[in-house]
Amino acid sequence: TEQMLAEWEKLSLVGQMSAGIAHEIRNPITSLKGFVQLIRESKQLREDYFDIMDSEFNRIETIIKELLMFSKPKDVNFTQHDLKELITQVVMLMEPQAILKNIRIDTEWNSNEAIISCLEHQIKQAFLNLIKNAMEAMVNGGNITVKVDTNEKDVLIQVIDNGPGIPKEKLEKIGEPFFTTKEGGTGLGMMVTKNIIKNNHQGALEVESEVGKGTTFHIRLPLGMDC
Ligand code: ADP
Ligand code: MG
Repeated sequence: TEQMLAEWEKLSLVGQMSAGIAHEIRNPITSLKGFVQLIRESKQLREDYFDIMDSEFNRIETIIKELLMFSKPKDVNFTQHDLKELITQVVMLMEPQAILKNIRIDTEWNSNEAIISCLEHQIKQAFLNLIKNAMEAMVNGGNITVKVDTNEKDVLIQVIDNGPGIPKEKLEKIGEPFFTTKEGGTGLGMMVTKNIIKNNHQGALEVESEVGKGTTFHIRLPLGMDC
């Protein structure tokens, strides 16, 4: 019946949500594991590692807090940030895993300020997902470059990798829930990223890729206060 169908859809939505939540919490945990391993291997008590680990624990805490606030979206606050600072933090966060995988992450700033009004945690999550995918694609190491540029209205960001690229027939599937080519992948990262950029921040996200050469994600976010 129609009612049963509605119930089923609700249930499957709960299932999708759970999978999404698990995915978002798994990222900081993977990063924390990386730092534990680095500290174990280096036998050094690195202050800066502990700072990042702290922020990763806070991140898990924030995700849980946000989920608890889900029924009260008014509590979600847009705040102003220089996107370059947020990206710097994300890059720092990924550095240990990158080093272990022989991947170099460079940043290129082509503007002084790139202030956006955003949900800080979500924007970091979006860039983390993009960089993480690039890292996972480059099994033999490689380079990732994050470029930031501005025009009068927008911040333009490129996340460029020189990994294997994405075949044409798969390009349009990226961001579809559960589309993954990885064993153990969830196929939720790009769905979440798209939602964050397009729906929650009135931005745009496009992908350009050439097999054997690499992949570039183009992101556009509106500058300034109004969002
Ligand atoms: P997951 O990472 O769990 O597979 P995502 O939604 O994050 O899910 O990514 C979906 C798919 O998009 C990946 O499985 C991969 O095939 C493809 N993809 C995303 N980014 C890249 C990239 N930079 N290079 C190659 N393939 C990519
Ligand atoms: Mg992913």
